[in-house]
Amino acid sequence: MDRIILHCDCNCFYASCELLSHPDLRQLPVAVCGDPMERHGIILAKNEPAKRCGVKTAETIWKAKQKCPGLILLPPHHRLYAEYSKKINAVYGEYTDLVEPFGIDESWLDVTNSLHLFGGDAKALADTLRERIKREFGLTISVGVSFNKVFAKLGSDYKKPDATTVIARDNWRDIVFPLPVGDLLFVGRSAQELLGRYGVRTIGELSKCSEEMLETLMGKMGSQLYRYANGLDDSPVRGAADREPIKSVGNSTTFRRDLTRWDEVQSGISLLSDSVAMRLRRYGLYCGGVQVGIKNSRFQVFSRQTTLDHSTHLMREINDTALRLAKDLWKAPDPIRLLSVTALHLTEEAQSYRQLDLLGTDDTQQEKQEAVESAMDALRKKFGRGVISYGTAEDTISGEKIERE
Ligand SMILES: [Mg+2]
Repeated sequence: MDRIILHCDCNCFYASCELLSHPDLRQLPVAVCGDPMERHGIILAKNEPAKRCGVKTAETIWKAKQKCPGLILLPPHHRLYAEYSKKINAVYGEYTDLVEPFGIDESWLDVTNSLHLFGGDAKALADTLRERIKREFGLTISVGVSFNKVFAKLGSDYKKPDATTVIARDNWRDIVFPLPVGDLLFVGRSAQELLGRYGVRTIGELSKCSEEMLETLMGKMGSQLYRYANGLDDSPVRGAADREPIKSVGNSTTFRRDLTRWDEVQSGISLLSDSVAMRLRRYGLYCGGVQVGIKNSRFQVFSRQTTLDHSTHLMREINDTALRLAKDLWKAPDPIRLLSVTALHLTEEAQSYRQLDLLGTDDTQQEKQEAVESAMDALRKKFGRGVISYGTAEDTISGEKIERE
């Protein structure tokens, strides 16, 4: 029997949350940005009127203002977004145990085994969810209904805001095949360009490629995309109970040539810290400790770890700590073959271990950094990892590691 999967996506989430406290601005072009006073700051989110003026996420405030001189800028409130996210997921949780959040404003729901309790009609349930979220929070969502996760996600993107799209066995080719390959989950800009060079521009064209050809072209990703395009995605919706507690999240990279200079070590550490932080945020986790490992050219391994005075999932904080550890650990210029950064002592809630933080001294700085890093997550989700990064390191991450209990 086919599964019944819903993908729910909050529309213009950050901007919509902000507009709840500024209802008078609803019809005007509004954007949320890192620092409204900073001309070169970037747009983190915008509402529909701003979108119609051509304002784009990630462009500079300066450029956005050129297109839309009346654009109203609001600072972000990340904690508010996290709160709404939690409450909205709790509503989804009333309909199934299998709710898997994807970032702060999207979730998959597998209702295969519970739909009969709520009338048995998936589209009607999707409409009910839209009504409830609107009534209870004043926010709109778009919902995709399908027989796998990838198509459910396509459905929620297909028509928005505030809409339901059903992609079923009898119509999926009509809806999905004409869409550009870039609409498919995990097809970033570089994959899209690569496929474009082979004349593959739509999902329909992708579905007609041989699996072998795609695998040769893109490795494991290629055969995954073949399955996605042909409606064969069978990845499960992982509810909280299926997501075993994660003990540590680490990344390592072996360099093409050994590192001997501090600036090289610095960019290696920042690449790894970025990736670790991004994964923590994806899993909704915070770390209370950081570990750095070094393997030298004689294959000797050294590591050092420390605890933090408050838990974090921010790249900036993980990076600062990892750099301190690396500086202590490394006997320059002993050639480094491999570096690793691992986040330890993971928790699902942010924890503070010092008095200062409880008083909220650092709040604004923290808020700003939260907003910037989570906006980067959103951009990467949309455009692929390469679209935006902190460092300039050429090496790519090789070893992703999760330790589960
Ligand atoms: Mg959204």
